[in-house]
Amino acid sequence: MSYIKLDQNKCKSCYLCIDVCPHKLLKKSSHIGSTGELTVEFSDTENKCIGCAQCAIVCPEIAIVEVNR
Ligand code: SF4
Ligand code: SF4
Repeated sequence: MSYIKLDQNKCKSCYLCIDVCPHKLLKKSSHIGSTGELTVEFSDTENKCIGCAQCAIVCPEIAIVEVNR
């Protein structure tokens, strides 16, 4: 099983990843990124991420990578 890491420095705040996650683990952070909009953060306190990589696939900035547990 794997989970993901999200690099907020690469995030361009398109928010495509927020909609594709089946468990809604991606949400807007309180950090303003390079576009002047809030970047996205990954929060998975209950280990719900199934490693489906849909978020990584949809991200145009390659800000999300899969990591093995
Ligand atoms: S890998 Fe799948 S479950 Fe995990 S955060 Fe991305 S879209 Fe959500
Ligand atoms: S898809 Fe990528 S660039 Fe777009 S909001 Fe998500 S992490 Fe940021």
